[in-house]
Amino acid sequence: MILAIETSCDDTCAAVVEPSGRRALSNVVHTQTEHSRYGGVVPEVASRAHLERMDAVVEAALAEAGASLDDIESVAVTVRPGLIGALLVGVSTAKGLAYARRLPLVPVNHLEGHVAAAYLAAPDLEPPFVALIASGGHTALYSVTEDGMSLLGETLDDAAGEALDKGARMLGLGFPGGPALSKAARGGDPTRYDFPVGLKGKADLDFSFSGLKTSLLYKLKAMDAEEVSGELAHLAAGYEAAVVEALVRKLLRAAELQDAPALVVAGGVAANGPLRRRLEAEAARLGKRLVVPPPALCTDNAAMIGAAAAATPALPFPDYLSLNARSI
Ligand code: ATP
Ligand code: FE
Repeated sequence: MILAIETSCDDTCAAVVEPSGRRALSNVVHTQTEHSRYGGVVPEVASRAHLERMDAVVEAALAEAGASLDDIESVAVTVRPGLIGALLVGVSTAKGLAYARRLPLVPVNHLEGHVAAAYLAAPDLEPPFVALIASGGHTALYSVTEDGMSLLGETLDDAAGEALDKGARMLGLGFPGGPALSKAARGGDPTRYDFPVGLKGKADLDFSFSGLKTSLLYKLKAMDAEEVSGELAHLAAGYEAAVVEALVRKLLRAAELQDAPALVVAGGVAANGPLRRRLEAEAARLGKRLVVPPPALCTDNAAMIGAAAAATPALPFPDYLSLNARSI
């Protein structure tokens, strides 16, 4: 079995995954609450909180899987991209565990992890497919084949999750903004306000959310507090719909260009209700398979890192001692 560790941002995660990478026996996530009062993740606070929780999270992952370290054949860990101090806690822990047991260590790219979540959700899924990763830090489209992942397009400015978080903040809603916006948007009319869909007419597969943010800013400047609270559901629904529309359009365009039989959507934003519903309808219309992992596998977790590790070369003992984390 694979013991997987993920600490790239503000979730301290460990999981036990079968060697096939297609089934998780446990998936423990400790979400740091220390950041809520700052309205965003504070890197140094995240590193310290990882350090405090890491051992307990690993122990919980082993216990939930009914396993001990004796059952572990390799240790997988996120090495990039992410907050450097946060990553280092996971990498150091993984190195220590692997070295003590003379096990191989598998360095995993966090974004490949997000894509690999699809293999846990759909164990029979095989490449080729196109994958959209939409999270707090990334928004990118990949073509996934047997040879690996290649980038088709990405955001030129904010990530989709970041755009949702910033929009929610402008509207006075909580953090993280994605779920807060969705809640506020309930019952709202997404067509009441005209929000721009970034790079809509462009033939490429890139994204942009800065114009959308500016549009909300100007709308809010023209309203007083009472108007904003009266119009909140409509504003939230319109803003959310513009983010969803940009994601759906480019993913479908990528699928068409690649002639891909399946679509995968992962990353925290894939938990979004309106996005999931739109994609289900579009995939059915096009006769393509759609895999959107359940929310717990879409936001940061270690099971997805274990899933990606199954298809990633391992570093044999003790070659990984000089392994480093990378922020990008
Ligand atoms: P990265 O993976 O790029 O390093 P991250 O770890 O911050 O970034 P995730 O945990 O994958 O990202 O996702 C967090 C993002 O997902 C946040 O921006 C959050 O607002 C968004 N999000 C979470 N749930 C929902 C939801 N139901 N609807 C829309 N967005 C959501
Ligand atoms: Fe992530």
